Amino acid sequence: MNHVPAALTKKPRLVVIGNGMAGMRTVEEILGRAPDKYEITVFGAEPRVNYNRIMLSPLLSGEKEFDDIVINTAEWYQENRIHLFSGDPVIEIDRTRKVVISRSGTETAYDQLLLATGSDPIMIPVPGHKLSGVVTFRDVDDVDTMLKTAANGGPAVVIGGGLLGLEAAVGLQARGMSVTVLHLAGHVMERQLDPSAGYLLAQELGRRGINVITEADTAEIVGTDCVTGVRLKDGRMIPADLVVMAVGIRPNGRLAADAGLTVERGIVVDDVMTTSDPDIFAVGECVQHRGQCYGLVAPLFEMAKSCADHLAEIATNGYAGSVTSTKLKVTGVDVFSAGDFSGGGETEEIVFRDAGRGVYKRIVLEDGRIKGAVLYGDTSDGGWYFQLMKDAQDVTELRDTLAFGQAFAGGSAGNPLDAVAALPDDAEICGCNGICKGTIVSAITEKGLTTLDEVKGHTKASASCGSCSGLVENLLAATLGGDYQAAAVKPICTCTDHDHDNVRRLIKAKELKSMPAVMQELEWKSSDGCHVCRPALNYYLLAAWPGEYADHGASRFINERVHANIQKDGTYSVVPRMWGGLTNPRELRAIADVADKFNIPTVKVTGGQRIDLLGVKKEDLPAVWADLNAAGMVSGHAYGKSLRTVKSCVGQEWCRFGTQMSMSMAVDLEKMTWGSWMPHKFKMAVSGCPRNCAEATIKDFGVVATDGGWDLHVGGNGGIHVRATELLCKVTTDQEVKEYCGAFIQLYREEARYLERTAPWIERVGLKHVQERVVDDAKNRAALFERFMESQKTAQVDPWAERASQGVDAHEFKSLSLIAAE
Ligand SMILES: Cc1cc2nc3c(=O)[nH]c(=O)nc-3n(C[C@H](O)[C@H](O)[C@H](O)COP(=O)(O)OP(=O)(O)OC[C@H]3O[C@@H](n4cnc5c(N)ncnc54)[C@H](O)[C@@H]3O)c2cc1C
Ligand code: SF4
Repeated sequence: MNHVPAALTKKPRLVVIGNGMAGMRTVEEILGRAPDKYEITVFGAEPRVNYNRIMLSPLLSGEKEFDDIVINTAEWYQENRIHLFSGDPVIEIDRTRKVVISRSGTETAYDQLLLATGSDPIMIPVPGHKLSGVVTFRDVDDVDTMLKTAANGGPAVVIGGGLLGLEAAVGLQARGMSVTVLHLAGHVMERQLDPSAGYLLAQELGRRGINVITEADTAEIVGTDCVTGVRLKDGRMIPADLVVMAVGIRPNGRLAADAGLTVERGIVVDDVMTTSDPDIFAVGECVQHRGQCYGLVAPLFEMAKSCADHLAEIATNGYAGSVTSTKLKVTGVDVFSAGDFSGGGETEEIVFRDAGRGVYKRIVLEDGRIKGAVLYGDTSDGGWYFQLMKDAQDVTELRDTLAFGQAFAGGSAGNPLDAVAALPDDAEICGCNGICKGTIVSAITEKGLTTLDEVKGHTKASASCGSCSGLVENLLAATLGGDYQAAAVKPICTCTDHDHDNVRRLIKAKELKSMPAVMQELEWKSSDGCHVCRPALNYYLLAAWPGEYADHGASRFINERVHANIQKDGTYSVVPRMWGGLTNPRELRAIADVADKFNIPTVKVTGGQRIDLLGVKKEDLPAVWADLNAAGMVSGHAYGKSLRTVKSCVGQEWCRFGTQMSMSMAVDLEKMTWGSWMPHKFKMAVSGCPRNCAEATIKDFGVVATDGGWDLHVGGNGGIHVRATELLCKVTTDQEVKEYCGAFIQLYREEARYLERTAPWIERVGLKHVQERVVDDAKNRAALFERFMESQKTAQVDPWAERASQGVDAHEFKSLSLIAAE
């Protein structure tokens, strides 16, 4: 049996079981109050750091990747000296000896123990529920299983038309499956929505191609080894390669019950989250507080605060229970509900319908106070109704205009800044993370925050589904007054309101594979785009769907279109590729012959160690390329937003200082990376020792040999804004240089905005971000490298050969007089 070493300090030992949202939020809150109070150990059943579970839906639909939903990275645990055992569930709590025992046999003593074991998804025990292909929707492994099946397309059935089931259905459909939702009740999300809103939602899902069957009672899941379908009690048979069971959750109180703690529906706790053992606490979905169990994050975060106050020995009022509201996280479908909207009895209803806009609002009042609200299609006032409801405010005075929302409510004069200023400090702004106005405003004033990103970083507000970003921006504006500069959501151009990042995300998420599809789906304002958005879209589509999307030459800038540099007198310059900066007599002879034959006035060595033939007439270009191709030379892409050159010094091959073979490394890197389209031009260099004769430290990717291996540098720029590289990492083998290089390029290709070079990109996202993905996470690095190499399979086509010998785009190179004569 392993033993965690006894603490060197005499700090009390806090052990946390459950590395999920509630447990880790409690730890964060404790660290915020008393960073040095405890020696903390965390056990998590899942083999990963903690992540935002509510973002599993965007992970499934492809709108987010795992890295985007991580809450605390491995470094965070290290920095805060938290001992994390991931993938190692606790199997026993020995309260007499005050130790927990994990599956791996680790025995850890505690002074205080925190249970945050969450819930188990419910599996209805119908025949066939154990077949392969039947999954629940609770963790990253479930999403992985769904994605694997979805990769083959085919039919999927989701049992359960609640919040989770519908998010799963939309996600699977986005991944290419044809989805049927089976729901027992008469309308979907019946616990959150009334029948009218449920009807509108089912209609919308139908329009998206999702088949919703209500009053559907599952009799059996059919199949021999793998699932093949679902049979309903009325005999209907629905084919399925995948069945997602999303019918509810059950608080996970097994461990606590086995240890003899009081467990009813959940682990019973008091207002500071103490269980029936004064040294054991519990937070999250596993608890039962004042008879209630919760299945949303906002209450769990409130529990976390009270528990942290208590554990940090700060006076606290304790947790008093929560009123909850819900939203459906489906892009383009706005649904909000809060409180009790069942109506009847002494209640009154205010209903607003606008069939044309697909807007429906229902507010239920009792004694002049809001008791519940359901909003569909326009949910912008959800937070306001929710606050009025929580405050039990008398709304009799507002009644006439209540359905029109806050903008029409007396006093606010329709100004969103006045409205947000009028909210009380405890008004909840970010539902996903349970952050209230007071927390955000004090972070802004005390920490001097001025941007949405800073508020996200410090408070987590708007860091999850993002639907409260507008409110947070209004809070920033209301708090900072004239000092606030709204974060420029800079649309790509006047053809769209979307910025670059959004367009990239939606191209993937909605599987948009052509320019018309992007423009149609993302509601472009012009019929065919413009010179700004078309090249960007062309690049984003190429990068997203390598091999599938056919490059659209007409959407490229002139230099890329004609594969040569246009010069100031209208002639062109041609730069053949010389791998790693090396050449030979045959190539030199061919260059000299071409210069003679086509009267090329200037031959020049470029800054990237290549030979530039300047002054070529446009109509001569195909013939020049043909002659250079005949000598084995291909385009140097000296015009393109792509890999340009890999410069080298003479290295260990010739130089007496050289510690590594820089020439062959440069050749290898160039052969691996040429032809890859990028957000902007991309240059590399390799030096054979730290004397760095190839000037690798002002390149996008620079490689400098050391005694023991190679230093890899990134983000350098020798242009207008000279910027030296930053050290990405040190590696030892040649193979690593190639893998890191490919992975870095792919990350840049996938994340940078079109026309953003590596230097401003890294300044914007931070070197740490790049290191986390390329250096710290070996799996991600390998995946990036694989995607890069995969896209290279179809990218390494020499555009010169295509045009010189196959006549591609021949019209481009005919002189106007010839075209006129035709
Ligand atoms: C797909 C999906 C979408 C959701 N969307 C929303 C939403 O939009 N809004 C919202 O408010 N909520 C949403 N939720 C609910 C929300 O995610 C949960 O309320 C929240 O995660 C619960 O936090 P928790 O810490 O109690 O449990 P969890 O986050 O589940 O954490 C519990 C952790 O404990 C671990 N564990 C269990 N037993 C042991 C053991 N013996 N030893 C070690 N570790 C153990 C589990 O593996 C798990 O990682 C969603 C949930 C899902 C699954
Ligand atoms: S960088 Fe080092 S190996 Fe390369 S040429 Fe200069 S001194 Fe020689």
